[in-house]
Parts: sequence; structure tokens; C-alpha cells
Amino acid sequence: MPRIDDRRLIAAIERITPVLIIVISTEGRIVHFSPGCEQASGYRAEEAMGRLFWELLVPPEEVAAMRAEFERLVAENLEKHEYEGTLQGKDGSRKWIVWHGAVVSGLNGDSSERFVVGTGIDRTARKEIERDLRSSRERYAELMNSVDGIVWEADATSFCFHYVSSQAERILGYPVERWLREPNFWANHIYPPDRDKTVDYCLNATRALKSHQFEYRMVAANGRTIWLRDLVTVVAKDGKPEVLRGIMIDISERKKLEEERQHLLEEAHEAVALRNDFLSIASHELRTPITPLRLQISAILRLIRSESLAEVPREHLLRLSEIAERQLSRLTRLVDNLLDVSRITSGRLKLAYEEVDLASLVREVVERFQPEIDASQVRVEFHANAHPVGCWDHLRIEQIVVNLLTNALKYGAGRPVHITVDEQEGQALLTVTDEGIGIPMEQQKKIFDRFGRAVSSRQFAGMGLGLFIISQIVQAHQGKVEVKSEPGKGATFIVKLPKAMENREMVAA
Ligand code: ADP
Repeated sequence: MPRIDDRRLIAAIERITPVLIIVISTEGRIVHFSPGCEQASGYRAEEAMGRLFWELLVPPEEVAAMRAEFERLVAENLEKHEYEGTLQGKDGSRKWIVWHGAVVSGLNGDSSERFVVGTGIDRTARKEIERDLRSSRERYAELMNSVDGIVWEADATSFCFHYVSSQAERILGYPVERWLREPNFWANHIYPPDRDKTVDYCLNATRALKSHQFEYRMVAANGRTIWLRDLVTVVAKDGKPEVLRGIMIDISERKKLEEERQHLLEEAHEAVALRNDFLSIASHELRTPITPLRLQISAILRLIRSESLAEVPREHLLRLSEIAERQLSRLTRLVDNLLDVSRITSGRLKLAYEEVDLASLVREVVERFQPEIDASQVRVEFHANAHPVGCWDHLRIEQIVVNLLTNALKYGAGRPVHITVDEQEGQALLTVTDEGIGIPMEQQKKIFDRFGRAVSSRQFAGMGLGLFIISQIVQAHQGKVEVKSEPGKGATFIVKLPKAMENREMVAA
């Protein structure tokens, strides 16, 4: 076997290998600089020899870190050490080198003298790829996160998410990790009434390998429901669904507008229907007193024209005229109510304030109403427990009493009606109680609405305006009106009026 000269072998290897081989004294001076080093740095070996390697080859910003590593290697006498850093060449170009170093002694025959032997591999290309990859990943993530929707990817069988963009957290409030970790996260967070049909739809479309889009609600972390539009692509492999990719867009705002529009549309339809009903009821109502009125007046005229007028008892004439007058006041009230409603809805209800004694006012109204009370054969009892005097609109307060009394006579089933006036904590209280048909609980709010009625027009004539007008007048006086009632057990209406009002001018204006 021929003997091989180690030095020549090493020289031969050094010439062909792209690996950098360097030997450095423990002070950091270069004592061996391989052709690989020459090539990578652009320095010839003669230029490099004896120079401190960090001065020659390391860019200034990395010198401190590199020296610290080198000193540790020497101090700890390490036999194996890895370090990555930049090598700055003669022309200023930079390379990324992965170094492997070791402290070796006796390279020059003196066993006490130590050197650092290092090999370096140029990883610049890989580093650049890594950097490109990282920046493209960052760009990708940025892009995904800038889309105003949740970009996602999920397993096509389990629907478990592999990826969701950070918008997921912004839109629904759950951290991204929960989307990824929790099994069944998607289905579990769909708004329960939408859940089955949404999951079924997605399942069927996935099985059929069909891209699909659908809308459903999810429950956000704060408990709110969020409307989403989900646009899904099915990625198949060997004819089977493998991955789902999609984007969920928050359409809550659009849905809200749609709902509002729908609501307005329904309201408009209702208003039109209500107006039509109202017109037919109003014309019927207005006609009702006209027929008896005409009858009474013709009867009176007939009597006057007859030759035997002198024989007609005064009482008879009076009775006919009273009936006519009652019908006339009913007609007047109806027309007044209609005018009031139009005033209220157009904001033209004006109040004229003066000092009013409520108890006297009620007594007067009851007296004036006596013909109607007599005609309906109802016992009306009035009791003043106090005499509150307030600053109110006399005519409007009268209107409240008239409307409540008319209702008590109409719905009171012929049984007694009790009216009282009280005073409580600076407020005047008017109570009208009957023992009639009463009002079911669920209707009690509605009866104060415009046209709101708890009875059919076949049972009881009426336009459903009286209580609406009362509640508007009471509100304008900063008071309150409420009803207590049970079906079949009568009704009590309580009106509370503050005697003195705040910002009276404002309300009066
Ligand atoms: P109207 O009597 O013309 O229908 P209102 O606005 O005065 O209009 O009353 C609204 C509805 O409230 C009535 O249709 C009736 O259903 C109910 N209501 C009012 N007062 C009474 C009452 N004293 N007893 C029972 N129901 C009443």
C-alpha cells in the first residue's frame, strides 16, 4: 500500500471543498485560511494571516457577539461548538455562515499551545429562502387578516378548523386557538335555531363536492348573535372531499337594515290597513247618531206642523228634543275626537293653562251628563275625598272625565259607576271605576294606542280614540294614566296629574 502524505491530502481536499476551514490562535489571530475561506471572503491567505479574524471578517454590529462566543469557546475549552453569523467579504458583500469550532492543542507540535479550528458552511442561499418564506408568510397572514371577513380552512369530514385568520377573534370574540383546538367549534357556536339546517346544508354540499354559500347566525363570546355569510370551496382528492376553504363575512349590519326595512314595510302595511278599517268604522260611527237624530227631528217637525200641537204634552216634545240633543252631542264628541287625533298626530295639541279645581270640574261634568246617565239607567256616584287645585287646561281635563265616564257607561254592563277625586303627594287623582266587562291583561296596553280596542265593533260601537286622546292629554300635563282590570270584574282607570308642572311653557308651547 502506498503511503499518503496527510498534508497533501488535506491541501487537495481544501482545494475542492466549498467548506471554509480556518485555524485561529486563542487571541483570535488567523493562522490558517483555506481556499474556501479565500473564495468566500475575497481575501487571499497572505492578506488574512496574522489578522484578528473578527476585525477582518465580521461586520461591526456582530463583533461583540462573535467575540463573546469565541472567548467562551476558548475559556471552556470546548471540543464542539456551533455558531451562525455573518461573514463580511473584502468587497463588503455578506454571507451567512454556519460555523463548527473546536479547541485543539498541539497542532504545531507544542502540546501546551491551543488553537481554535473552525469549519464553515455557506448557508446564504438557504437563509435567503427562509427569509423569503417568512416574509411571504407574513404577507399572506397580513393579507388574510386585512380581508374584512374570517378566512378559514377546515377538514372536510370533521369540520375542524386548520386555520382561521385573526378576524375570527375580532368578529366573534373567541381567541383563534379555541377555533383551532375545540372539536366541533363551528357547529357548537352556531346560533341553536340555525344549527341543524346550517350543518346539514354544508354537509350535503360538501358530499356533493359543490362550492356553496349560505347565511346563518353564530353566537359571539359576548352572547350577541352575529349574522355571517359563508362562501365555501370544497377541495377534493380522488373524488372525495378533503379540505374546505372559505370566508365568513359579517353581514349583521346588512341584516339589521333588512329587518328594519321589513319592519317599516309591515308598519306601513298595518298603517294602511288601520286607516282603511278606521275610515269604515269612522263613517259607520258618524252615521249611527244621525239616524235617530233625523227620526227625532222629523217627529218634532211632524208634531209642530200638526194641527193638534196644542194637545201634545210638553213632556213629550221635551223628551224628543233631549234625545235629539244627546245624539247631537255624541256626534259632536266624535267629530271633536277626530279633530283631536289629527291635532295630536301633527303635534298641534296646545294647552291653555288656568287654575282648575278638579272636584268641582268633575261634579259639573257629571251634572251635565245627567241626561246620558239617565238614558243608560246607570247609577253614577261621585265622591270628592279632596279638592286638589292645579294649573291645567280646563277643557282638556273635562274631556278626560267625559271620555272615561262615557266608557264606564258603555262597557259598565249597566252596573254602578264610581268616580272619586283624591290628592296624594302633590298630585291630583281621578279614579273612574265600573263593574262591567273588564279588559284582559294582554290588551291593557294596547287600548291606549290610536285605534286600539279590546272589543269588536260588532259588540260595541267605537273608534278606539278616547283613551288615546286621554293618554296624550295626561302626558302633556306630565301626568300618568293607568288601568286596573280583570275580565268580567270591571275596570278602574286612574289619572294622576301633578298640580304644578316643570317647564310648563315648553309643554304649553
Ligand atoms: P272606544 O271606546 O271608542 O273603542 P277608547 O279609546 O275609549 O275607544 O277605548 C279603547 C278600548 O278600551 C275599547 O274599545 C274597549 O275595548 C276598552 N275599554 C275602554 N274603557 C273600558 C272599560 N271601562 N271597560 C272595559 N273596556 C274598556
